[in-house]
Amino acid sequence: MLQRNPLTWQRPRWQQELADAVRDPAELLRLLELPPELLATPQAMREFPLRVPRAYVARMRKGDPTDPLLRQVLPLIEEDAQTPGFLADPVGDLQAMPQPGLLHKYHGRALLITTGACAVHCRYCFRRHFPYSDAKPAAGQWQTALEHIAADTSLSEIILSGGDPLALSDARLAALTEQLAAIPHVRRLRIHTRLPIVLPSRINDEFRAWLSASPLQKVAVIHANHAHEIDGDTAAALRALQDCGVTLLNQAVLLRGVNDSVAAQAALSEALFAAGVLPYYLHVLDRVQGAAHFDIPETEARALLGALRDRLPGYLVPRLVREIEGGASKRPIM
Ligand SMILES: *Cc1c(COP(=O)(O)O)cnc(C)c1O
Ligand code: SF4
Repeated sequence: MLQRNPLTWQRPRWQQELADAVRDPAELLRLLELPPELLATPQAMREFPLRVPRAYVARMRKGDPTDPLLRQVLPLIEEDAQTPGFLADPVGDLQAMPQPGLLHKYHGRALLITTGACAVHCRYCFRRHFPYSDAKPAAGQWQTALEHIAADTSLSEIILSGGDPLALSDARLAALTEQLAAIPHVRRLRIHTRLPIVLPSRINDEFRAWLSASPLQKVAVIHANHAHEIDGDTAAALRALQDCGVTLLNQAVLLRGVNDSVAAQAALSEALFAAGVLPYYLHVLDRVQGAAHFDIPETEARALLGALRDRLPGYLVPRLVREIEGGASKRPIM
C-alpha cells in the first residue's frame, strides 16, 4: 500500500486543482471577460452547483458566451423549466441496483458507482438528481458489491463509474482494483471517466503505477464532447493512459449549442483519433429534468450521423444510442 509520511505529505497537485475549481458563476464570467448580465442563478443550482476546474476553463474562448465548453458548465435559467417527459431518473437506474452502488443491467458486465463526486458539473448530466448519498457504498465499503460480483460468474467485466471514479484517491482505487483482480471470472476493468479531459493532472505517476501493475485488461471510456476539449495536456494524459496498457474509447453526448453540427462531430472524431482514442458512443440526451434546452430530436440526430458517415472513415463514426429503461443494452438509433 502507498505509504505517506504525515509530516511531509502534500496533497497531490490534482487534488489541489480539484479543491480550487471555479464554483462561483460570477467568477467564471470574469475569467472569461464576459459581461455580468449573463449571470443566472436557477433554482437548479442549489441541487447541482457550478463546478469547473481551471484547467478546463483555460480552454474556453474569452469573450464568447456561446463557447461550446462554457455551454456545458454554465448554469442557465432554462434549467428551471418543467418540460413534460423530462424526469429525475430517466434511465431507471434506481430500479436496477441489486446492491447499494452496483448496477447490473446488461449481460456480462456490471457497473460500480464508486463515488458521487465529479470534478466538473455538466449541466446536461442525467445523474444531476441522483441520490448519491443513498446509492454509493458508505465510506468505501464495497464489500457487498464485491460479494455480488464474486458470486456471479457471468460477470467478466467491471465498470468503475460514478460520479467519476478517478475523483477517488489512488490508494482506494488500487485497493479496489486488487480485490476485483482476485475474482477469477473478472477479466476486464473498464473505467468511465471525464477526468483525463477536465483535469489531466489526475493521470500522475502514482496513478500510472497501480494501473500498469494490474493484471486485468484495461479499457477507459473517456468523455469529451468537443474538439476544443483536447489540448496538449489532455493529449499527454491520454498517451500516459495508453502507456499503461489501456484501450481508449470516447463517449459523447449530442448537445444543442455544443456539438450539434457535422463539422463539430467530425472535428471531435479527428481530434480524438489524433490522441489515440476511438469514438464509441454518441448518446442522445437522456431526458433529465433541467436539460431540455440541450435536446436534439432523434430525426435530426439521425440525419447528422448520416452526414458524418459520408465524411469520415467508418471507425471514426460513433454509434448513436439512447439508453432506455429496462433494455438489455443501449438502443442503437439507425
Ligand atoms: C452503459 C452501461 C454499461 C455498458 O454498456 P456497453 O454497451 O458495454 O458500453 C453497463 N452497465 C450499465 C448500467 C450501463 O449503463
Ligand atoms: S462528469 Fe459525467 S457524471 Fe460527472 S457531471 Fe459530467 S456527465 Fe455527469
